[in-house]
Amino acid sequence: MASPGPIRGMEFAQLRCFNHAQREAAARCLGCARFFCRECVSEHKNRLLCAQCIAEEAQRGQQARRNFLAPFRPALRLMLGLLLAWSAFYFMGKALIAVPSAFHDGLSAFSDDAGSAR
Ligand SMILES: [Zn+2]
Ligand SMILES: [Zn+2]
Repeated sequence: MASPGPIRGMEFAQLRCFNHAQREAAARCLGCARFFCRECVSEHKNRLLCAQCIAEEAQRGQQARRNFLAPFRPALRLMLGLLLAWSAFYFMGKALIAVPSAFHDGLSAFSDDAGSAR
């Protein structure tokens, strides 16, 4: 008979706390999906999180509160960029419209001179 594969329950029992290599894992952090012993995780807003994830979440919350306009910034930058690009093309187009006749005249006169010189 073929040997039975590894049993999931046994795998879990062999897991160790991420912080304490000698301790068995008792819970899994929902933030980083790492295993921790009972001491290393704590409940945060009805979720089991490790100390690191709780600190990160607290930091993120503070940052989100500080610059709540952050999500709108890319759109503002895009609009500003489009405006700049539009005005640049607008003035470039104006300049190009004004240039060609004089440019062509100068070019044809030059080629005529070069042809008559030979
Ligand atoms: Zn975590
Ligand atoms: Zn631990």
